[in-house]
Amino acid sequence: MKPLQIKGGRVIDPANEIDEARDVFVCDGKIAAAPSASDDEVEVIDARGKIVVPGLIDMHAHLREPGRSDQETIETGARCAARGGLTSVVCMPNTSPTADNTSTIAFIKQRAAAVGCVNVFPTGAITKGLKGEELAPIGSLKRAGVVAITDDGSCIQNNDLMRHAVEYAKMFELPVLDHCQDYNLTANGVAHEGYWSAALGLRGWPAVGENVIIARNILLAELTDWCIHCQHVSSARSVELIREAKQRGVRISAEAAPHHFTLTDEYLKNYDSNFKMNPPLLTAHDRDALLAGLADGTIDCIAGDHAPHCTHEKEVEFDMAPFGIIGLETELSLAMELARKKVLTLPQLVEKFTVNPARLLQLDKGTLSPGADADITIIDPEQQWTYDVGQSASKSRNSPFHGWELRGKAVMTIVDGKIVWRDE
Ligand SMILES: [Zn+2]
Repeated sequence: MKPLQIKGGRVIDPANEIDEARDVFVCDGKIAAAPSASDDEVEVIDARGKIVVPGLIDMHAHLREPGRSDQETIETGARCAARGGLTSVVCMPNTSPTADNTSTIAFIKQRAAAVGCVNVFPTGAITKGLKGEELAPIGSLKRAGVVAITDDGSCIQNNDLMRHAVEYAKMFELPVLDHCQDYNLTANGVAHEGYWSAALGLRGWPAVGENVIIARNILLAELTDWCIHCQHVSSARSVELIREAKQRGVRISAEAAPHHFTLTDEYLKNYDSNFKMNPPLLTAHDRDALLAGLADGTIDCIAGDHAPHCTHEKEVEFDMAPFGIIGLETELSLAMELARKKVLTLPQLVEKFTVNPARLLQLDKGTLSPGADADITIIDPEQQWTYDVGQSASKSRNSPFHGWELRGKAVMTIVDGKIVWRDE
């Protein structure tokens, strides 16, 4: 592996409060402070006009393996991530078998290592089989290498069990990630309860179904003095609750997904199931609240919630279709739009993909400090491109952004000093 010299780019490294034109050096898979001795051996990468940032981290993806390799595999998911400029992906435990045991975690790690593309960090389930009834062996999962626990896709309804889960997680210093959904309130809803669900005759899913669990998590984080991270926060009231709790010093954090800060429930009017996700798309008011929450730091991270489903599964009546969309290849471009609209500065944007998720998950990533793993993303902020889902590296095609004209794109993704994606 040749040493690299990435020349003339605008380097944005929020962990070190750097935003300036400079070169980045890579040697032996690590960031180096200075060029390596043997100059002619170096591969020079021209980054003029580009932005050079620490490798982006997505802390919420479904890679479907083991169990549903017809939808995605660790390999295809990792290739999608690399194309999207992500060097690290945190995968959710709702596989088959569920990642509630050490051998499934070992399998995921082994597959990811064999693929050798981006870093894949597994999470473990909080409860056995994600059933919300009995705790998974959290200590063993930690020893097996999970970076957090979550029942994502499901939500523990029993507040006492959730309290114990958080207390255990604290003992093992594991962050708890929660998919916030009260089942009684959301019942069999498929679309945000409001104007469009009524107009289209779709069963409503009230935002309070998310708000109630966010409030529960704030109270439990306070009680246990441990961190609970709220996944794919979607509604305005949730943002307010988290903002107020953070002001009191509660250890609560949050992520938002590009589809929630880009789209609204008005897009449901064609009954296209590629706009059906969990939580559902909300109103423009909610979208604007997410943007405000991203801007003021209430929302710490941007995460795609990449959720592949086969075409035959999605091509059914809206009511019957599974929730979820793919996102790894489009999330950076959709996020770049926030910088263009001046919702976020570029350093703020980069922070939400790098140092913030790294800090929440205690990952040794998200920085360009000398000695750090050479995970680097090079972005062309002006490149215009059209997303063609037919060309996706994913096994699935369920993207609402097919045909969208996007601006800003990862042109090179480097993991441990190795180029894993290069835009030709
Ligand atoms: Zn979820």
